[in-house]
Amino acid sequence: MTQLERAGNGEITKEVMTAAGEEGVDARTLAGLVAAGKAVIPANANRQCRIVGIGGGLRTKVNASIGTSTSIADAAMEVEKARIAEKYGADTLMDLSVGGDIAGIRRAVMNEVRLPVGTVPLYEAFALAIEKYGAAVKMPEELLFEVTERQCEEGVGFMAIHCGINRKTVEMLRRQHYRYGGLVSKGGSYMVAWMEHNGRENPLYEHFDRVVSILRKHDTVLSLGNGFRAGAIHDSTDRVQIQELLINCELAETGRSAGCQTMVEGPGHIPINEIEANIIMEKKMSGGSPFYMLGPITTDIAPGYDHITAAIGAALSSSYGADFICYVTPSEHLGLPYPGDVREGVIAARIAAHVGDMIKHRKTDADKAMGKARRDMLWDEQFRLAIDPERAIEIKGRRDGQTQKGDPHSCTMCGRFCANDMLRGMFEKDMTGSDKK
Ligand code: SF4
Repeated sequence: MTQLERAGNGEITKEVMTAAGEEGVDARTLAGLVAAGKAVIPANANRQCRIVGIGGGLRTKVNASIGTSTSIADAAMEVEKARIAEKYGADTLMDLSVGGDIAGIRRAVMNEVRLPVGTVPLYEAFALAIEKYGAAVKMPEELLFEVTERQCEEGVGFMAIHCGINRKTVEMLRRQHYRYGGLVSKGGSYMVAWMEHNGRENPLYEHFDRVVSILRKHDTVLSLGNGFRAGAIHDSTDRVQIQELLINCELAETGRSAGCQTMVEGPGHIPINEIEANIIMEKKMSGGSPFYMLGPITTDIAPGYDHITAAIGAALSSSYGADFICYVTPSEHLGLPYPGDVREGVIAARIAAHVGDMIKHRKTDADKAMGKARRDMLWDEQFRLAIDPERAIEIKGRRDGQTQKGDPHSCTMCGRFCANDMLRGMFEKDMTGSDKK
């Protein structure tokens, strides 16, 4: 039985206890949210991994995506990227490999880290079709289900599956004269090409009950993929994207009713004033399924800095109620990320998730403590509280030789004009007994 079914039966599983304990929330409350489909716990019994709850009432989680391309398929580098993602605090990892020995790389990554690992099984199925039949559009339907089942058996914790694409939506895409930015989801564009070539319905939509039954059997969380996400700001929140969101929300309810844990993905490139509406729609139409935000990227003109364009969108998303953020690295739109890019992406997304949680969950204790540590120039405490202590220690350290002679506390930002030093000790008696600091 899945976590959803067990919670529905009134059981408080050890996974619920662990996830609740990690976040200091009541286990009974979390079990209620899992039972209602408002929170999910990737807990595939075929792999022991860290237990992470995603959804209502919980800290916003961060996913780091790694994976080979057909141009660079370096298994050792992907394992290194996985290690870096875990080290810098990603909550989950997705292996999106499409090049090299896809299954071997996935197993190596899953052996390396304790994080729940997600995949897009469509990628491996299309890659196998190219290898065996010479073209992705020649993929036999059955291969899709076989690959999905095999990945579940290996212990994949969650899967992005593009069930929300159907022939009606493809027709809508044609009627709205395609898009400025085209289709940028690999799963989306390959599935549409397959459907057009074969004149057939998307098997993942047509046989949704089969998808659900495979994932339910292994308690792999179904993440309803965003194949029609906008890849350009100009295309955001168009009819096609919203139609897919609507279908995914319906499917989330259907999957949940069949006992499968589900979440919904969205929305890609989007201006900041449309983010809240997307979240409201997803939450209302899906009955509160966790929302897995890809990015979202908030301007198209900052290549090289898309970890920042996405972090801006992610912070707003988290504050409006998104539950799960997929990081973006500085390499986005430019090339396959290197290990250093993974660190930048994870930290940017963690900052964004925290900024959102400060509003959504009023999680401000660490910020309050940091303010005091800065006032009192307690550097070790500042490093302890930092999202990336390593970076803070490194920057402080490289300037330490230039601080004021005889003043080990100050820093080179202001030198002897240190504002904190100037007032040290003057107001301490006024601060006792009040929280108005
Ligand atoms: S020198 Fe300036 S930046 Fe550094 S601790 Fe003092 S006030 Fe803060």
